[in-house]
Amino acid sequence: MSGAASVAASGRSLQAVTVLGATGSIGSSTLDVLARNSARYEVFALTANTRVEAMESLCRQHRPRFAVMQDEAAAEQLRARLADLPQTQVMQGVEGLCRVAGDAAADVVVAGIVGAAGLLPTLAAVDAGKRVLLANKEALVMTGDLLTSRAKAAGARLLPVDSEHNALFQCMPQTAEGTSLDGVSRLLLTASGGPFRGRTAAQLADVTPAQAVAHPNWSMGRKISVDSATLMNKGLELIEACFLFAVPASRIDVVVHPQSIIHSLVSYRDGSVLAQLGNPDMRTPIAHALAWPERIDAGVAPLDLFEVAQLNFERPDTVNFPCLRLAREAVDAGGTATAVLNAANEVAVAAFLDGNAGFMTIPATIEHCLGALPVRPADTLDAVLEADAQARECAAAFLA
Ligand code: NDP
Ligand code: MG
Repeated sequence: MSGAASVAASGRSLQAVTVLGATGSIGSSTLDVLARNSARYEVFALTANTRVEAMESLCRQHRPRFAVMQDEAAAEQLRARLADLPQTQVMQGVEGLCRVAGDAAADVVVAGIVGAAGLLPTLAAVDAGKRVLLANKEALVMTGDLLTSRAKAAGARLLPVDSEHNALFQCMPQTAEGTSLDGVSRLLLTASGGPFRGRTAAQLADVTPAQAVAHPNWSMGRKISVDSATLMNKGLELIEACFLFAVPASRIDVVVHPQSIIHSLVSYRDGSVLAQLGNPDMRTPIAHALAWPERIDAGVAPLDLFEVAQLNFERPDTVNFPCLRLAREAVDAGGTATAVLNAANEVAVAAFLDGNAGFMTIPATIEHCLGALPVRPADTLDAVLEADAQARECAAAFLA
């Protein structure tokens, strides 16, 4: 264990955890698991963007050494509100986020910021060789091999928190480094199908943001909920799986499984198929990644198979939900194409949530940007950031 982890009364050292995106859905599930396991973990730092009130209450509850607000004015307000809590130092901006992600005293970093905003802090954690619990899939989709090779070089342990990838991780052959592909023929990525499964493109044209964020099985942030409704979440996850496990997209199938009980499966050359099952609750993959290779309590109710009764499977509909097809095309194109796909999606989803674009404008925007922008090698951070900026401009112009 790295850093200045303190020593518990039992004599066992506590692992110091930085939670990036503490006020979000992943952040709150993480803090719940940490609180249940306070004999193993202590909260080192919490971060958020603008939500000062939520952050104040988390700081009072968890007493972190550092609290970071990305937004400068929000940091100022938090500092004033926490004047009576001298043990918590308030910092701000991307520098503050990167500082607590890479701090020598942090052992574990939970990457729970949504979107490209999570990239630099996640990279800071990776470069500092931390155990990085990756929820922020957009960071990996943008950078691909760049992130995984930097993790390798720095000795960082990248553990998937995304439930499907955590399931794949659990079902793949385990090695000291994580997983191998020995004997593996295919990865089967499950998808709930989202709130609009079964609808046609015409029926999807005028769905509202409120309908799109009402996911049938999972309670999540707004952006990922829209991604689940368009199937772009599965597209991003397909790309995530390619980079995490060094598998080509042609060896990954997406299986729609509306109950969200099987979180993904691994098919082996001898005909065996291993699956990971559980109630749809992010505390399970978070607890798994926190403690791996050990197991800890997550507060999740045991799975009642008699209650579940049925597990169903369907092929994904890539005609009415083009985002999954676009993600396959982007990962096959390689280089900066996945960064372009991600940025165009973020801009279009924000426009949809703000009521400035229709639901089917999301895939149209992404398809336009993928066609309009050149694919360059994604071998440096600058190349990725440039592709991200160009795609944001291109998407904004298309939407205007
Ligand atoms: P939420 O919207 O619930 O939370 C996002 C968090 O990021 C909040 O703490 C927010 O702060 C912070 N944040 C937002 N923008 C910025 C910014 N510009 N700079 C710094 N911090 C920022 O998202 P989720 O928890 O749902 O998702 C987080 C990530 O995890 C996403 O990448 C998602 O795809 C992934 N994921 C989520 C799952 C889930 O069940 N929720 C499942 C699998 C993956 P503030 O509150 O101040 O706005
Ligand atoms: Mg997922």
